[in-house]
Amino acid sequence: MDTAEIRRRFLAHFEAAGHAVVPSASLLADDPNLLFVNAGMVPFKPYFLGQETPPYDRATSIQKCVRTPDIEDVGKTTRHGTFFEMCGNFSFGDYFKRGAIELAWDLITKPVADGGYGLEADRLYPSVLVGDEEAIGHWMEVTGLPRERIVQLGPKENYWSMGVPGPGGPCSEILYDRGPEWGPDFDPATLGPDMPVKLEDRLLEIWNLVFMQDELSAVRSKSDFDISGSLPKKNIDTGMGLDRVALLLQGKANMYEIDVVYPVIAKAEQLTGKTYGADHDDDVRFRVVADHVRSSMMLIGDGVTPGNDGRGYVLRRLLRRAVRSMRLLGCEDRVLPELMPISRDKMGETYDNLVIDWPRISQVAYAEEDAFRKTLQAGTQIFDSAASEVKTSGGTTLSGERAFALHDTYGFPIDLTLEMAAEQGLAVDEVGFRGLMAEQRERAKADARAKKGAHGDTAAYRAIFDESGPTEWLAYETLETESRPLALLSGGSPVSRLGEGEVGELVLDRTPFYAESGGQVADAGTIVFDGGRLEVLDVQRPIKGLVVHQVRVLEGELDPGREVHARVDPEWRTGARQAHSGTHVVHAALREVLGPTALQSGSYNRPGYLRLDFGWTQALSPEQVRDIELVSQQALRADLPVSWDYMTLEQAKEWGAIALFGETSDNTKVRVVEIGGPWSRELCGGTHVSHASQIGTVVVTGETSVGSGNRRIEALTGVEGFGYLARERDVVAQLTGLLKTQPDDLVGRVQGLTERLRAAEKELEKARLAQLLGASAELAAGATQVGPVKVVAHRADGAAGGDVRNLAMDVRGRLPQGEPGVVVIIGQADGKVSVVAATNDEARARGLSAGELVRTVGPLLGGKGGGKDDVAQGGGTDASRIDEALALVTREVAEKVQG
Ligand code: ATP
Ligand code: MG
Repeated sequence: MDTAEIRRRFLAHFEAAGHAVVPSASLLADDPNLLFVNAGMVPFKPYFLGQETPPYDRATSIQKCVRTPDIEDVGKTTRHGTFFEMCGNFSFGDYFKRGAIELAWDLITKPVADGGYGLEADRLYPSVLVGDEEAIGHWMEVTGLPRERIVQLGPKENYWSMGVPGPGGPCSEILYDRGPEWGPDFDPATLGPDMPVKLEDRLLEIWNLVFMQDELSAVRSKSDFDISGSLPKKNIDTGMGLDRVALLLQGKANMYEIDVVYPVIAKAEQLTGKTYGADHDDDVRFRVVADHVRSSMMLIGDGVTPGNDGRGYVLRRLLRRAVRSMRLLGCEDRVLPELMPISRDKMGETYDNLVIDWPRISQVAYAEEDAFRKTLQAGTQIFDSAASEVKTSGGTTLSGERAFALHDTYGFPIDLTLEMAAEQGLAVDEVGFRGLMAEQRERAKADARAKKGAHGDTAAYRAIFDESGPTEWLAYETLETESRPLALLSGGSPVSRLGEGEVGELVLDRTPFYAESGGQVADAGTIVFDGGRLEVLDVQRPIKGLVVHQVRVLEGELDPGREVHARVDPEWRTGARQAHSGTHVVHAALREVLGPTALQSGSYNRPGYLRLDFGWTQALSPEQVRDIELVSQQALRADLPVSWDYMTLEQAKEWGAIALFGETSDNTKVRVVEIGGPWSRELCGGTHVSHASQIGTVVVTGETSVGSGNRRIEALTGVEGFGYLARERDVVAQLTGLLKTQPDDLVGRVQGLTERLRAAEKELEKARLAQLLGASAELAAGATQVGPVKVVAHRADGAAGGDVRNLAMDVRGRLPQGEPGVVVIIGQADGKVSVVAATNDEARARGLSAGELVRTVGPLLGGKGGGKDDVAQGGGTDASRIDEALALVTREVAEKVQG
């Protein structure tokens, strides 16, 4: 059964059982604690946590997931992908254990002809949490299996929590016995409490049912937590691995061989000339390639671009590992242009954004491969010279520092260093390397700890939320409101008052302040109360639904329980709205000028300023930048209307709204901001002007690179934009005043001036040379006769390298024809001494060499030099012995011709 059919049957089964079918959310979780969505329940978290009311009692979805901790297992186990899809069904206070067990069992054991998966019941083993009698009873009744068939596992396997106080509950997995070739025989009745590792590939976990029933007051580890009560509403969260079921139903050995993944392996075989299945290490590499190509494509599809931290780093690592693995398999050409389209063809059947957005996705991936190839090249040179250094000094081991430098500076993975060293018969000090890596990690952690502000730990906010519920948020409606403080915090802990001059955090029951999000900075403003005043320094939403103001007490003392008046600075907000709408305008203009593959990868805006990062591999031309500014200005002049609306994610996509960064479809409505109808449609929660002309102006001030495959455009809006132009106008005014000309003639004037200056410099140079050479006839005439040789040994103070040479050549040309002649000129200028010697044919016939003469006098001048027999040149720094050097020249010549 192909994956598409497994997918279809899953949704059909649950839809028929009254579940709302919810599309997969983006991989980019709207959750500060998660890098990527890693389970089907993530988009439903606000419902499970009681922060929002679900619009349905039961739902089903097939959610894209990325699990980076599983990266090391890829290709080694049969069942771990960095990317995979989780089929889930969810109950919000509706059915519980019995319902979940019935629904799951029915689907997997129902015959294929009746719409099920047709798995044989006698190969299936349910597992429950040790002692979960309720679940054991349901399993026995629903399946007819005897008690001994039900495996009881400890909390490490079968208790679910989020690692923090909140909901938790026992799990129940469905395991499939793949038979003796996958592991030792076992007795289900005595298995547990831990699942032996050697059984994990035989007893394949395909589905996990989570029974959310407990309220946890503390979680210290997976098996050490305190249950403080029962949840008022019990929930179900399940996850069935689509890829794992596919491998069973397709009779494959592992998830990398299923229909939507294997074609990449087949292509890799072609490219490398190696056969899959012939060698264990190679097979692991083939699987890594197939897995990583797919996950990196899916990540780019959801808006991740390669970078050096966070999500970007995960993507970079995946892409590089894929390229590296292909190299180890013997293919050194560019591989992604061959492999990724194969994965797109398969995954594009489900995720059509991969096809629609392919030009951008492929551009990002291929650019990263090219960059990595350059890294490899540069690193290989460094490696080679390090290796030969070790060898010439008789060593056999490359030091840990070297390996670390290769890693740190050139992004050289250690396994690559190890392998290349082995090829050269060298070992690597791996212990030293790992030590340095650990030190670096420690430093990074210390940095992160230092940066982690009051929002690092969300427990305090969670407690406030649980008590008071979500903040009534009025940022779209009003700039000021009466309000009541609900909690005060200082240093992350609740306090009962904040005194004058103190900085703390304040939660209000309602607020007009915009909390930083979607690239827009927080509002500034004040909060006043009877007898006091607060300045709002920052506004954040550390957990969904809760707005927290960071405030400084300017006057008075604040305690909860008094009425306050919260007021956003209207000037600030006007600037913020202009900047945020300006960002959308510039984005749309960018795509109009560069085409739809130019897609925003990040943005930031504050009153008067905006910047937008976008995926693009080369620098923009000045014309492109000008066009972007022009298109933006036209949008302002046309006074395009700005409006927003709430709709489902599906509708938003149909509308062509651009949705990339962590906007999850939490199954409620999303907000789409439109400028000029379809001209600009983006998912956005920011504050905006209502007409484009209110942006005032958009002045592009720069376009730069921000890492591989990403550019940044910066612009000023509103008054700041005008201010910038005014400053430029001032500069022009000063210049026109200075040059006594009109602005339109300014460039011509400056061009004319620089040309004249250059011409004058040339003239000056010519005159100087003429003066120098004027002396040369005199010098030639005054040559000293040393035996048969005419010798000119002259000191030219004030002349430097080129002049000295010209003079020497000119004098040589003026010496009488047919007689041997030697010229040595020593000049000095700016503390530098230059010497030039020149000989003619006759002199050289007598064994006189210019090179030798320069070498002889060089040491006297505190320098060295040399050259050919006919002309040679040198220099030094000691002018005190120039005369001595000239005398030495004459003596040398005399010795040569007479001695
Ligand atoms: P395992 O112990 O095998 O790693 P898990 O306990 O981490 O699995 P869950 O977190 O319970 O898995 O996820 C629910 C289901 O998702 C699993 O039963 C499995 O079918 C699937 N799944 C989990 N991780 C992966 C992965 N890395 N690749 C493919 N499928 C996965
Ligand atoms: Mg796991």
